[in-house]
Amino acid sequence: MSAATATVMALTFSPVCQPPTPKPVTHRPRAAYRVSAPRRRVTSIKLTALAANPIPSMPLQQPPPDCAKQACLALTFDDGPDPHLTPKLLDILAEHQVKATFFVLGSQVARYPELARRIAEEGHEIGNHSWGHGNFTKMKPAQMLQDITHTQDMLQAAGVTPPTLFRPPYGASNEAVRRTVPLAFTFWNIDPRDWKQQKPTELTASIMAAAKPGGIVVLHDIKSTTVAAAPEFITNLKQRYHLVTVSRLKPVTQSAGHATR
Ligand SMILES: [Zn+2]
Repeated sequence: MSAATATVMALTFSPVCQPPTPKPVTHRPRAAYRVSAPRRRVTSIKLTALAANPIPSMPLQQPPPDCAKQACLALTFDDGPDPHLTPKLLDILAEHQVKATFFVLGSQVARYPELARRIAEEGHEIGNHSWGHGNFTKMKPAQMLQDITHTQDMLQAAGVTPPTLFRPPYGASNEAVRRTVPLAFTFWNIDPRDWKQQKPTELTASIMAAAKPGGIVVLHDIKSTTVAAAPEFITNLKQRYHLVTVSRLKPVTQSAGHATR
């Protein structure tokens, strides 16, 4: 999906990873962009120990389906890690032997560094989803860079190699954002709108109806319905697709600047 398409989507829809509307978002509000580093209370001893043995943000060893020839699909989970739901989701992914991609917020990593570390340790990919879910199209370049760098640094402090992928909050991007952020932009092409109140069976049906080879599904590991539905939609998807990380689906060939997908 092009950035332009994502931007159009963003203007059409409202919630979590969609472009903002004047209405307040339905899920837990995110902190506005902060210039100073909040929540530095994270134990430095713990972080120092973790950082001494970093885990790659992109797994080095994965079962290697050839996604150029086989039907692959990537599940992505945004806005975490969440202290209650992310561990449950990780247990489900492990049980089903599936790797996914988590676009995390730096502010959440600061609060739950051990969860970021666990995501990477268990072979999932981690992407940068900004520090506090601010709209990058409303930031100056210096603010964008500080936000991104702050998040990268927090991941590194948590013991995770800083990611190469970036998913702008709300999918909101423009030329200035793409020029400024030196990471590979990653959008989605399947949005089952899990931010809406849906029953797990309805969410599964939405995912299955839209699933396709090469699909990148945007979901949120801060949504209880999503985690509740995960065993069912993962079981169903595995019958038709290899479930892989974003970088396995589309290998990163450009790590700086203008890669858009
Ligand atoms: Zn988001």
